[in-house]
Parts: sequence; structure tokens; C-alpha cells
Amino acid sequence: MSTESTGQPLHRLVTDHPRQWRGFQYVYPVLSRRSKGLSIGINLSIDKVCNFDCVYCQVDRSTPPPRKDVDLTQVRAELDWMLKWAASGEAWKDPQFAQVPAALRRINDIAFSGDGEPTTYPHFDAAVAVAAEMKAKHGLSCVKIAVLTNATMLHHSKVRAAMKILAANQGEIWAKLDAGTEEYFRLIDRSSVTLRRVLDNISNAGRTQELVIQSLLAKVEGQMMPAAEFEAYLDRLAELIAAGCRIGLVQLYTTARRTAETSLSPLSDEELAQLAERFRERLPQTACETYGKAGAE
Ligand code: SF4
Repeated sequence: MSTESTGQPLHRLVTDHPRQWRGFQYVYPVLSRRSKGLSIGINLSIDKVCNFDCVYCQVDRSTPPPRKDVDLTQVRAELDWMLKWAASGEAWKDPQFAQVPAALRRINDIAFSGDGEPTTYPHFDAAVAVAAEMKAKHGLSCVKIAVLTNATMLHHSKVRAAMKILAANQGEIWAKLDAGTEEYFRLIDRSSVTLRRVLDNISNAGRTQELVIQSLLAKVEGQMMPAAEFEAYLDRLAELIAAGCRIGLVQLYTTARRTAETSLSPLSDEELAQLAERFRERLPQTACETYGKAGAE
């Protein structure tokens, strides 16, 4: 951790991710060590509703949501302002970001993330179209549009329509996969949707475009994911790849911030490295990155 002259540690800059930034409702800037730059987040889950109830979720649902609906006109206006602010360099004059190292002073992506599953928004395709429109308006052809998703809705027509827009606008799907068996999936992700549905959706989407898989590994009640479960998880990935699903990268990460469940604790860097080593033995052709406690965000 480096402490800057403002007294604001770089660690805080990269780990504090308030969904509501100043007067904004939907759009927020995040300095992301993982993406080595600024990520402009869009929170379409303003009601904090999610179709998962992950044991590691960091969304504070003990306070009421600021509003229940999404105003896409306001999303567009906020994104327009934020991209102008970031692309013009004004962001780096802001006291919150003035100490950011030169290497991180770039916009990496516009990310649909937030306080729930973004693809459950009924007009998700229109929201992605807004992101593409604003990206073009500000001349940000190199900036990606990332969709962080639990993959439960990838088979829906609006999401498939959104994927076509993504494919034409440097879009990436970052799909969550936390388990190899239904039993462990229910323990970690706690959803009425099945792991089978998630895997089928990942498989189908990955045959259309290359995916990033994000997998959260942590201890529940002090217990690591059982070795047999990790092998089952690797089996599922191997099956996906064998079925033609293109997986460009698997991110293995652990918790870095406070989670809703106190029973959860992060893996040590050594534990994470051991799992990554096994991953690379089993799936040597698949890129795998790890994000430990200090580097996860
Ligand atoms: S999918 Fe994301 S928002 Fe939903 S419960 Fe899991 S971590 Fe929280």
C-alpha cells in the first residue's frame, strides 16, 4: 500500500467503489487495479434486487434503495458527463483522483456492474446501445464495454440483442462461475436458477463470442472449497471448452472487501496460488489470472 501526500492511500482509491458517486444515480468511476485504469460503472440495479444471493455479496441491502426504477435518459446524461470528464483529463485534477499514478490514468472500460444482475433490467439492450452511443460520441473506440454477469439471463432475447451490440462495440462478457456442482453452487450463489442453466448459457454465449470467466474463491466457515469441488469446477470448464465455448481468460479471485456474510473469509495469496497452479496443470491452454486480497477489486 502506498500512501499519497493527500493522506488518501492508493489502496483506498482502488478498493472503495461507491455505487452512488456524488449526485449521480447510475454512473460511477472506479479506479481498477485489475483493469489498470479507470472503469466507468453503470448500475442498472438501482433497486438492489438480484436473482443471486451470493454468500460473498458486498451490496449493502440493509438500507433502502435510492429509487426503484431506471431512467435511461438520466443514465445517458450521466454517462455523457462522466466520459467527457474522464476523456478530457479533468478527472485527474479532481482531488479524489489527483494522486493516481500516470500508468493508471486511462479509461479502460464502461462496465455494467452494480448492485444486482444488470441483465435482468428489461431494457438491457437499450442500455448497452446507450453505452455504445456515448463511447462513439467521445471518440473512445479503444474503450471496452464490459458486462459483469451471473450468466442467468444470457438466453433471453433482450440480452442476446445486447450481445450483438456488444460484439460491434468492443464488448466483453465477464461471466461468473463459482462452482462445479449444483450443491456447491447453492451454497455459494444461493439462487433458484440452476448451475445447469448458468453453464448452458455460458456455453452458448461463448460459442458466439470469447468470454472472461470470473470465479470467486473464499473460505466459508473457515473451510476452503473442497479439493473434489475444485476438480469438478475444472471439469465444467473443460466441458465448456470441449463444446466450443471460447474462454479467453479465467480470473480467480478472493474477497477483498467487507461481505454481507461474516462467515466468509479470503484465501491467502499462497492458497490462491496453489489453486491457480492446479488450474494451469489441468487447463494449460486457458489463461488464468489471480487476484489476491490486496489486488482484488
Ligand atoms: S450476483 Fe453480484 S450482486 Fe448478485 S448477489 Fe451475487 S455478488 Fe451480489
